[in-house]
Amino acid sequence: MKVLVIGSGGREHALVWKLRQSRRVSEVVCIPGNGGICQEASCIAGDARTNDGLLAVAHQVQPDLTVVGPELPLSLGIVDEFTRRGLRIFGPTQAAAQLEWSKSFAKEFMQRHNIPTAHYAVCASEDEVRKSLGLFSLPVVVKADGLAAGKGVVIAATKEEAATAATEMFSGKLLGSSSSRVVLEEHLKGEELSFLVLSDGERVAPLVASQDHKRVGEGDTGANTGGMGAYSSDALIDEAMVEWLLNHIARPTIEGMKSEGMEYRGILYCGLMMTARGPMVLEFNCRFGDPETQAVLMRLDSDLLEAIEASIDGRVSDGLFKWSTDSSCCVVIASGGYPGSYVTGREISGLDRAAAIENVKVFHAGTNLRDGKVYSSGGRVLGVTARAPRLEDAIAKAYEAVSCIHFEEMYYRRDIGARALKQPT
Ligand code: AMP
Repeated sequence: MKVLVIGSGGREHALVWKLRQSRRVSEVVCIPGNGGICQEASCIAGDARTNDGLLAVAHQVQPDLTVVGPELPLSLGIVDEFTRRGLRIFGPTQAAAQLEWSKSFAKEFMQRHNIPTAHYAVCASEDEVRKSLGLFSLPVVVKADGLAAGKGVVIAATKEEAATAATEMFSGKLLGSSSSRVVLEEHLKGEELSFLVLSDGERVAPLVASQDHKRVGEGDTGANTGGMGAYSSDALIDEAMVEWLLNHIARPTIEGMKSEGMEYRGILYCGLMMTARGPMVLEFNCRFGDPETQAVLMRLDSDLLEAIEASIDGRVSDGLFKWSTDSSCCVVIASGGYPGSYVTGREISGLDRAAAIENVKVFHAGTNLRDGKVYSSGGRVLGVTARAPRLEDAIAKAYEAVSCIHFEEMYYRRDIGARALKQPT
């Protein structure tokens, strides 16, 4: 079977790596890919940001199956377009993907279906923001309605700061494009957890839980990023909690989407805050997360292709995934300065030495390959991932591999997973 993977990040490298392990996959093609993916699959240039561009690639490649990494093509309706043309593709339709691309839709949907989430107000004007701010205590969370690649959330310490953030979201100053709506939200406290399920529109199968590290600085300080690292371990949540999350969040969401005529197939990513009042949904994503995917797929012992096909064909069942009891850890190496401005084009050394460590996989994100050498080409450059029976060993192994790698001004957090080790288990 020939599989086409759309995307260019660490998540897509992990998807390509895992799909290639399937006995039934004979060839993986990736658009546009990166410097690591192109060593394992054929990468093709092309426009991966529009439906027309992707249809042209599908016409050229003739894949048996297409797997979409990022949210943008899903929000543009790539699944609808491919399906209409009889092309097999994994993921939710544009309408179903609204759970991610419209925060106001997601919040109102959760309210309609009694899915636990923070109190909120959807505002269509600055005037409404000012009036609604009185309903919230401080700090208050301000969210732009559309896709914002992690940049559309401001945690405001004062009402003035919240009003200014909302104004900049409406005007487009904050994100480069204007939001027609802004969501104000109660600020929740607790541990964050990424809980992903695979759905075929009716049934769900959970993936192992993981925790992302969104802030750039150690001790969870500094600006929000796409994610500086993640770990996955069975100690994150017990079976009773998995059942609770399935019964109160994942299943009601899938059933609710079906009852509203927007059957949801694909990965449903529930970004949760484990609060004193119980788990609450911070956001839904309609695809695998990055870098959680790198940590989660490192623990998958069964065939990813089987799972993807079960979602498309309506065969999702409890025993679909076989997970290792090992823990895993992914440390992101970024270009210094990220998520602000940074320099690219640095030659990366030590990749072979890192890859030679047992149970380590170096996933590439912002890299390219020229004349046999790998260069940095983005903010997040590599996701160095390891697995081991104990979380502390997975973390140590990931950092051992990181220490083999070098490029000028590289930056990484030294405390990925550290908080988990401090907690009593
Ligand atoms: P989101 O894109 O909605 O997941 O928000 C990005 C990040 O902002 C989350 O991972 C949280 O760290 C933080 N955040 C979002 N909403 C809230 C909230 N209601 N309370 C506290 N933190 C939040």
